[in-house]
Amino acid sequence: MASTPPYDLDEFMSGLEKRNPNEVEFHQAVREVVQTVIPFVNEHEKYRQDQILERMTEPDRIVIFRVTWEDDDGNFRANRAWRVQFNNSIGPYKGGLRFHTDVTQSVLKFLGFEQVLKNSLTGLPMGGAKGGANFNPKGKSDHEVMRFCQSMMTELYRHIGEDTDIPAGDIGVGQREISYLFGQYKRLANRFVGTLTGKGLSFGGSLVRTEATGYGCVYFCQNMLHHRGDGMAGKSVAISGSGNVAIYAAEKAIELGAKVLTLSDSDGFIHDRQGIDAEKLAFVKDLKEVRRGRISEYAQKFKSAEFYADRRPWGVPCEIALPCATQNEVTAEDVQHLLDNGLVALCEGANMPVQAEGTDLLLAANVLYAPGKAANAGGVAVSGLEQSQNALRISWSRDEVDQRLKGIMRDIHDQCVHYASDGNGCVNYARGANIAGFVKVADAMLAYGAV
Ligand code: NDP
Repeated sequence: MASTPPYDLDEFMSGLEKRNPNEVEFHQAVREVVQTVIPFVNEHEKYRQDQILERMTEPDRIVIFRVTWEDDDGNFRANRAWRVQFNNSIGPYKGGLRFHTDVTQSVLKFLGFEQVLKNSLTGLPMGGAKGGANFNPKGKSDHEVMRFCQSMMTELYRHIGEDTDIPAGDIGVGQREISYLFGQYKRLANRFVGTLTGKGLSFGGSLVRTEATGYGCVYFCQNMLHHRGDGMAGKSVAISGSGNVAIYAAEKAIELGAKVLTLSDSDGFIHDRQGIDAEKLAFVKDLKEVRRGRISEYAQKFKSAEFYADRRPWGVPCEIALPCATQNEVTAEDVQHLLDNGLVALCEGANMPVQAEGTDLLLAANVLYAPGKAANAGGVAVSGLEQSQNALRISWSRDEVDQRLKGIMRDIHDQCVHYASDGNGCVNYARGANIAGFVKVADAMLAYGAV
């Protein structure tokens, strides 16, 4: 076979943008990956063949459907839902469902694409997918959320299965939503199998799944610091978000002796100068997980804290930043503030929380920077462990799952070092994660031939 010419980044991106018009989040996610993968591909003849990058950036399929449901006043309501089954080369599709008004096909394609590489990094046999709906669960009653979930699953169930596609939670989809979705799946399929993960402990869920993304993010940060001969103890930490990932990132950081200063939601952020301790975090868990309240209530409860409406926490001096809310929540200006204030490490709990110009600044400043596909892979990794436990019909202890999670986060860290260390202790984790994730999927696709 004749050798294929090297890839050119601008040419590749202009083709992708033409094929996927107006999908800016998807363009951003692909650019971030291919700008580091193309030099590697061009150096390795076997990856230059067979349109591997064009194929890896094209989802296997996208299912789009209407979800009609009835609100508490008896009105019919309609939303749009998607499942983007991106790539199942190394295992069944796996990835979360997001309920948020900002959900679009572009957002789910960016998340699905990232998920393919992230799942590959975990070392578990999982392909990548993402789904969700432009449904806003905020302000809805439990019964409204239940009716929405049941209606959504009535279509979704025919596209998923324990060996086909295994959804989990994401923004707006926590244990309440997974329970409604799984209850309806079980009714329709008439089978009790692990087709969803993040389930309740009494019906097939895994210990540590709730904590896994936040804990895993802090374990990854700890690994990066250890690699430089440093540690978490005594470090000041700014965290955004106050949902699943943020709460458990804060919990693990506090446990490891760090001082957590901030949390946020879409209304603003709180800054607790004395630090958020385990007792104060218990208040946040109750506020967010049970009462579904707003983070501003923290500052009413604790006098050591102030609430800043409509602002993000990145102006607060800290050594470690853990963005754990949503995509593009950290601008280049925010990054500059963080760097000016002595940032040591930024570890992404959320998916693509730092805007592209911001990641350029982090990489140029040579601070520790962990991209989400590496740092937040703990959630899907424990979902993978939940699948294994379901298939074996056993439950592992909390300690067993936590040890496996730690081991997986360490392996991901070491893969990044393997592919992107300059030999002097400096590691470009973004490059390492992209190449390590790419290699496994590309090898499988090349082995399959024209698929
Ligand atoms: P949750 O819904 O539990 O929490 C999301 C948090 O982010 C809330 O505090 C929410 O505030 C805030 N937030 C959401 N959108 C915005 C916005 N546009 N502006 C400001 N704040 C916002 O979601 P998760 O914690 O599960 O997910 C957070 C991030 O982590 C996402 O990027 C997700 O993709 C990623 N992730 C999650 C995993 C998981 O296991 N859950 C796994 C891997 C990644 P408010 O309540 O006001 O909307």
